[in-house]
Amino acid sequence: MPPFFDQGELVAVLTTQPLDGTLDYRAPEGGCHMGAFVEVPLGPRKVLGVVWGPGEGGFDLKKARSIIRVLDVAPMREEMQSFLIRAAQYTLTPLPAMLRLATRAPGLSDPPSMRKVYRLGQREPDRETAARRKVLEVLEAYGGLAFTLKELSEEAGVSSSVVKGLVAQGVVAEEDSPRDLPFARLDPDRPGKELTEEQGAAVARLAEAIGQDSYGTTLLRGVTGSGKTEVYLEAVAACLRRGRQALVLLPEIALTAEFLTRLQARFGARPAEWHSGVTMTERRRTWKMVGQGEAQVVVGARSALFLPFQDLGLIVVDEEHDTSYKQEDGVLYNARDMAVLRASICGAQVVLASATPSLESWSNAEAGKYARLDLPTRFGAAVLPELRAIDMRAESLPSNRWISPSLQRAVTDRLEKGEQALLFLNRRGYAPVTLCRACGHQIGCAHCDARMVEHRFLKRLMCHQCGETAPMPETCPSCDAEGRLAAVGPGVERLAEEAAELFPEARIATLSSDMFGTARALKEQIVQIAGGGADIIIGTQLVAKGHNFPLLTLVGVIDADLGLQGSDLRGAERTFQLMRQVAGRAGRAEKAGVAMLQSFQPEHPVIRAILSGDEEGFWRAEAEERRHAGVPPYGRMAGIILSSPDMQQVFDLGNELARRDAPLRQAGAQVFGPAPAPIARIRGRHRVRLLVKAPKGVALQGAVVAWIGQVRVPTQVRLTVDIDPQSF
Ligand code: ADP
Ligand code: ZN
Repeated sequence: MPPFFDQGELVAVLTTQPLDGTLDYRAPEGGCHMGAFVEVPLGPRKVLGVVWGPGEGGFDLKKARSIIRVLDVAPMREEMQSFLIRAAQYTLTPLPAMLRLATRAPGLSDPPSMRKVYRLGQREPDRETAARRKVLEVLEAYGGLAFTLKELSEEAGVSSSVVKGLVAQGVVAEEDSPRDLPFARLDPDRPGKELTEEQGAAVARLAEAIGQDSYGTTLLRGVTGSGKTEVYLEAVAACLRRGRQALVLLPEIALTAEFLTRLQARFGARPAEWHSGVTMTERRRTWKMVGQGEAQVVVGARSALFLPFQDLGLIVVDEEHDTSYKQEDGVLYNARDMAVLRASICGAQVVLASATPSLESWSNAEAGKYARLDLPTRFGAAVLPELRAIDMRAESLPSNRWISPSLQRAVTDRLEKGEQALLFLNRRGYAPVTLCRACGHQIGCAHCDARMVEHRFLKRLMCHQCGETAPMPETCPSCDAEGRLAAVGPGVERLAEEAAELFPEARIATLSSDMFGTARALKEQIVQIAGGGADIIIGTQLVAKGHNFPLLTLVGVIDADLGLQGSDLRGAERTFQLMRQVAGRAGRAEKAGVAMLQSFQPEHPVIRAILSGDEEGFWRAEAEERRHAGVPPYGRMAGIILSSPDMQQVFDLGNELARRDAPLRQAGAQVFGPAPAPIARIRGRHRVRLLVKAPKGVALQGAVVAWIGQVRVPTQVRLTVDIDPQSF
């Protein structure tokens, strides 16, 4: 049991308010444990906090106020405190902001009153109205999750009386709050799939590591379809057998539906879920049950790392290379790295699974810091797709057309065989540029340094930086010319239009994040496509990730050069990963697959490496370049972003920082910039970036703190530190 403080004893409480350090309070009636979640008075307000340790005193003790009450949840464990402190130090985030991530349980401080919740009941409705059907659709789509009356009526877009009407008929069940309802037990000993020799060997190694109950990280590298998921599900089973909890992180919420079904089939019950698509009611329940050890497995997004696990024994990071693991807003952290940190503190194993690992993980495995397991062959009869380049210089294509004759022939061939084809273009919307043919003006966002992208599906222009939308103007905003605005370049919507013209008989499905109002609509669409509900799939990045489309045998990449043009040193790695990942969608079942890459520079080393499949060779060459440049993972980096409505102000401060670089130089680090940030203006704020670069052994965080501590940051300016930036 954690240390206990008697009533009246002085304790230090860390609140979620932006204060420096902790505040002292007196323990309430009945006392409290270290780590207890409490409500404390702060000025006239009540705020949430955690009992962080014994009080520090040093002030007039008669003035110390009392904790108002202790919340009805398990106290924060000491290892969670350590994790938050270390994560705060690593990312240079104030501790209260870190604590906010760990207290994201909605209604955590609600009084423990019973609420009513609603689920699917037993009876069929006698009379279905459109409104009633909407309610049932919501309940069915969320597969048994519970809603409060407000959540359910809002999600269905109906009045609460519609729900009440269904309750009266017994179609919807009304229950007391499930916040204390444990999850169904998962059974690790149900018979799983029979593993191949290769898979069995990997499972044995992981199970042995898990049996040690200590920290370790394994890079599980396997081509798409090799059974990585099967293997790590057995690692989850091994963890459950030891009575410890497991967390599986996934990069895309859209993937969870298919994945949960698989997990349920393996363990006989559904795990807990943690992501933005889960109802508030369920999140409250999950948070609490995780803390009591009653939720054995959590499947979630990166924020699930901050759940109060009682005894976490395994963290799986699926598609570990995925850039969406980096949180780019608020607290900047990489969930993959934080998973390793958390596991090292609580004595858990980490499995990093990917077909195309990040260079970071690859080099950690090379250096012996991570164990490495390889699954080089696809399961069963499935073979890796054949990869081919289409040399666009040799194809005759009219302007404003992007599907080459060679690709067109290949698609026609698939359609005749009743198989599916995927056309991949990593660009949302209809066209990336809207240009006035009269004056040359390009429509830009009023608040950002970005173009407005035409979305015909939504009938609007949209800024992909800030989300601002505007109607498509009839005349040029600059010269007033009428009817001269033209769409330039392809987006997925325009590609879909072209495909519809070329293949009028085919059923075409477009998968792009902004075509779906909800994650649920997207899930449904994916299930439909997987079942053969489309002949041609047109998609962005969204389809590259892990979906299983058994009928898909052809992948056409419209613009394989897209990621290779920028100055970003990670461009090659990203392109390599994305292309291999997309290509891996083809031929997952018995049918052989082909991936065709349209490229204007098929002799480019990255394109050649993608085609030849020489991954080790590619990684070694890439590692050599980065080592030479002294950038991650062979050097350390931090980005400092300064933003303000006033451009002069951010440049002045940036220049001052660049001048006063002595603390960095003394530590062995160097500063570059200030330069306009990769996105130079967002939401009306100008942004400049300084990059700090240091050799591996340098204590970068300390040097950065000493350095930025020298300057006074004007109130209008926001200074954000980004340790290990994604682009450099
Ligand atoms: P990955 O995660 O590496 O892409 P999966 O685990 O999804 O691979 O496996 C690909 C497909 O092969 C899935 O449909 C999976 O059910 C099947 N599969 C993999 N291993 C086995 C096995 N040992 N027995 C039966 N089916 C398997
Ligand atoms: Zn904008």
